[in-house]
Amino acid sequence: MEKEMSYGSDYKIIPATSIGSGVGIQVLPDLFSYTIQIVNICFVGNPDNGEFVLVDAGMTGSADEIIEAAEERFGEGCRPIAIILTHGHFDHVGAIIELVNHWQVPVYAHEIELPYLVGQKSYPEPDPSVEGGMVAKMSPLFPNEPINLGNHVEKLPPDGSVPHLPGFRWIHTPGHTPGHVSFFRDEDRALIAGDAFINVKQDSLYKVITQEEEVNGPPRYFTTDWRAAWDSVKKLAELNPSTAITGHGAPLAGEALTSGLERLVNNFDSLAIPDYGKYVDGNIH
Ligand SMILES: [Zn+2]
Ligand SMILES: [Zn+2]
Repeated sequence: MEKEMSYGSDYKIIPATSIGSGVGIQVLPDLFSYTIQIVNICFVGNPDNGEFVLVDAGMTGSADEIIEAAEERFGEGCRPIAIILTHGHFDHVGAIIELVNHWQVPVYAHEIELPYLVGQKSYPEPDPSVEGGMVAKMSPLFPNEPINLGNHVEKLPPDGSVPHLPGFRWIHTPGHTPGHVSFFRDEDRALIAGDAFINVKQDSLYKVITQEEEVNGPPRYFTTDWRAAWDSVKKLAELNPSTAITGHGAPLAGEALTSGLERLVNNFDSLAIPDYGKYVDGNIH
C-alpha cells in the first residue's frame, strides 16, 4: 500500500549558497557531479544509453533544478532507475519527495540509516558550539528531524552490491551518521564519498561560499562519532581512489586526492576533529 511521504517539520529553504551552485562537472564519462547551493548530487550513467542513477537529492526546493539538470544530460523526459542515498541529512534529501513523485522511482539507503528516513528517529541536533566558525554558528537553522519516505525507501543489499550500478559496491563509512555509505568502483577506483570526507574548508562562511578547496573531515556540526569517522576515512584511503566526488566541494582526482587523503588520515585529529564541541570525546586527540 502507498504510504504518504513527508519532510521533517523543521525543513525549510536554507539561504546558503556558493559560487559552484548550478555548475555541473563531468568527472568521468559516466560520472557527473552537480552542485545545488552548497551540496553535490551525482548522476551515474552514460548519457549515450540514457540509463542513470541519482546519488543524493539536494536541498529543499531544488527538485525542478535537479530534473532540469538530469534532462539536460540525459534528454527530455528522462528518469533515473533509482535514487541512492549516502545518508539522510537535510542537504542530501531536500528534494527527494518531489523527485520520487515526479519520477516514481525507488530509493535505497543503508539499513542503519532507514530510521532517519521513515520518520522514526531524528538526527542529533546540530552543534552550534563546535569549533568551526560561521557555518557551525548558523547550523541551528539546519533541519535535523527525519523525513518520512514511507515504503518508497529500501535497504541496500547486504552483499555490498549497489542496485542498478553494476561494478560499484557500497562501503559502510559511519561516523558522520550511523548508516553513512560511500560508493566505490574497483575497475577504475572511482569513489562517491558522500560526507565521509569533503573537499571544502568549512571553517568560515566565506570559504564555503568561495568553495576554497581542502580535503577535510566530515562537516563538524553534524558529526557525532569522530572515532568512527576517522576509521571510515582510513578505509576509503586504503582503496586508493583515483577520482572522488564528495558531498561538499569540488571533485578530486590524482595526486591532489591521494595526497589530500593521506594528509587527512595522518592528521585527522588536528585537521578534522574539532578542539571543542558537544560531540567531541576528549580522549580521541
Ligand atoms: Zn551530512
Ligand atoms: Zn552534507
